[in-house]
Amino acid sequence: MSIPATLIRGDGIGPEIIEATLRVLEAVGALFDWDEQTAGLGALESEGTPLPDCTVESFRQTRLALKGPLTTPVGTGFRSVNVLLRREFELYANVRPVKSMIPHQRYDDIDLVLVRENTEGLYVGFETTISVGGDPRAVAQSTAIVTRQGCERAVRFAFEYALANGRKKVTICHKANILRAASGLFLDVGREVADDYKGKVEVDDVIIDACAMKLVLDPWQFDIIVTTNMFGDILSDLMAGLVGGLGMAPGANIGDDAALFEAVHGSAPDIAGKGIANPTALILAACMMLDHVDEEENADRIRRALEGTIREGTHTTRDIGGNASTLEFADAVNRRLG
Ligand code: ATP
Repeated sequence: MSIPATLIRGDGIGPEIIEATLRVLEAVGALFDWDEQTAGLGALESEGTPLPDCTVESFRQTRLALKGPLTTPVGTGFRSVNVLLRREFELYANVRPVKSMIPHQRYDDIDLVLVRENTEGLYVGFETTISVGGDPRAVAQSTAIVTRQGCERAVRFAFEYALANGRKKVTICHKANILRAASGLFLDVGREVADDYKGKVEVDDVIIDACAMKLVLDPWQFDIIVTTNMFGDILSDLMAGLVGGLGMAPGANIGDDAALFEAVHGSAPDIAGKGIANPTALILAACMMLDHVDEEENADRIRRALEGTIREGTHTTRDIGGNASTLEFADAVNRRLG
């Protein structure tokens, strides 16, 4: 039986890495019934809006999507489509795992998961500028919104994820010493939620700046990190750096009744159209999508083939030291799938 899902190829390198990912999914016989839709810069150019109604409607029907990166058009008054989709469908947990696959890196044996609150914090976009003495931007003001419910569901997701995936510890990352209201609420609610998992999942907490340093000095002390929207955005790029860069980092945006899978990286316009982008992050995102629909066996098969290809190193993309094209890399993965 095929599973209905929305497919958005996206901007920049999006179409290239989606193509590679579809080839790999096809090779394991993963049966998604794709409803192809547009979003981002491409949609703005063809349909006058970066988020067409039919795209939203498709996702409303399927509740499952694979998406290439989208460019947020600057200076057009449009907000980030990624942010809009996360908000519209209450995709409150952004799960960003990083795992070492490239041999002889600065860090080995990294296997960490970041859970980022995905709908609140400073990224709600409550911003204004205040004019003083003729300068229209003399003062800028951004307001973070943090709710008890928002903190609760994100942190609970992290603990449930730990239980479901055999993970031992959740670290609550915050800045409650300075941002007493917003970050203080996240920490307090996080600790309350942690009480429900006593004896099952360990908990500790760390201040964001110390967390960044510890991730660089000794990342192995962490297991799952749960944090607010902006801290999570920043830390997940840092964590991608531990395993070879943005080309290696997948992400899942999960809500109670919808899920959207994507790479952590953006549309990388500098390498778009050259056929050299690394599709690993998106292929790993597709594996998370397979896990989500209880196709773990296929997901694991792909992960093994992907890791084997990367460890062998003869058909990898430039960003991770090889000289293969996007599709040559995908085809090498497929040969391993047999
Ligand atoms: P955004 O603002 O959407 O995050 P950005 O251009 O700031 O976009 P990315 O698009 O994520 O950031 O990429 C940053 C750089 O990382 C790119 O310029 C590109 O060189 C590299 N990069 C990102 N993704 C990949 C990939 N899949 N393969 C190879 N290189 C990549």
